[in-house]
Amino acid sequence: MRAARVSPACACVLLCATAWFSACVPWVLGVESAFESVGAPHCGALSSPAVFTPTALCVDYRKRGRHFGTHELVALLSGTAERLSHAHPDAVLHVGDLSAPHGGWISEHASHRTGRDVDLAFFLTDMAGQPVAASAATRIDRFGLGLRGMRVVRFDTARNWAVVRSLLQGDEADIQWIFVSASVKARLLSFAVRKGESWELIDRAERVLHQPTGAAPHDDHFHVRIFCPRGVAGAFCQPLGPSRPWRVSIPDAVLTDDRRLDLALSACIEPN
Ligand SMILES: [Zn+2]
Repeated sequence: MRAARVSPACACVLLCATAWFSACVPWVLGVESAFESVGAPHCGALSSPAVFTPTALCVDYRKRGRHFGTHELVALLSGTAERLSHAHPDAVLHVGDLSAPHGGWISEHASHRTGRDVDLAFFLTDMAGQPVAASAATRIDRFGLGLRGMRVVRFDTARNWAVVRSLLQGDEADIQWIFVSASVKARLLSFAVRKGESWELIDRAERVLHQPTGAAPHDDHFHVRIFCPRGVAGAFCQPLGPSRPWRVSIPDAVLTDDRRLDLALSACIEPN
């Protein structure tokens, strides 16, 4: 997704910051995992990543080498696919881009730089209700319909809600955002209410489902962003955006220890 603009100084600042981390962090914290997700989603890097490995329940539908993320994100994907299969045994989660091996810029994305972002394809059906294989992005309009070539397809609300539900119910990671268009959000929440889901779950979904401002509407896929890794692995990670009531707390001693990253990142993030 497109978020804040990044100045030309970003790469330089991060390079300096990374050099400083490489020299000092192991000495300060005594652990390499502090590097895992460094910086902000649109101005950062990734180190010691976990590798997303496709399974029968969870495939990499873009196959272009962007399958690296934090350990929490990769665990979230396999856990989500597993939970999804309980409700919909034939459902295969179609996973798009995560991050490059060392994070940083990748084409077609302003974020996806720190291993905390992943795109998921929508589940779609034909007009008879038969599943349609996910591949290229299909934009969904306010009626829940889209065009795949010359063919009209329908947003599969039940299975897409099951994806959101599975993301929110796992304990592998804390969801910060699920970027999606306002009309898709309304469709999903309406379905959840009719289905009789708990108000706690609906409240969580209402908070994290969001059409980003100043960016593509995300009417053709879910863009999931998790919070910084819990504990020391998130020491140099910048969450940005709101916290959530259900967010697992991170030890203050780790987060407040270093202000240099704040200074470095404030130089590379320009307000919209
Ligand atoms: Zn994305």
